[in-house]
Amino acid sequence: MIISCPHCGPRDSSEFYFRGEATPTRPEYDAGTAAATGYVYGRINPAGPQKEHWYHAAACRSWLLVERDTRTHKFLSVTLASEQGR
Ligand SMILES: [Zn+2]
Repeated sequence: MIISCPHCGPRDSSEFYFRGEATPTRPEYDAGTAAATGYVYGRINPAGPQKEHWYHAAACRSWLLVERDTRTHKFLSVTLASEQGR
């Protein structure tokens, strides 16, 4: 898979660290055990477009917000996570 890093251009995915889905949001401190468990373990795992966090560990060390189609592994968009507020 080739990921087009906004800083470095097209690079092999072996240069990146895959963090996982970007959509889970941390629950409030007093939300309870079920909410905390869902945040840690619950994932949507869609068959189709999914927003993910990738870290360009071998080069610019930037966190990226990537939208990837899980059926085809085609990258639909790549932006800096810092520009998205996540
Ligand atoms: Zn990069």
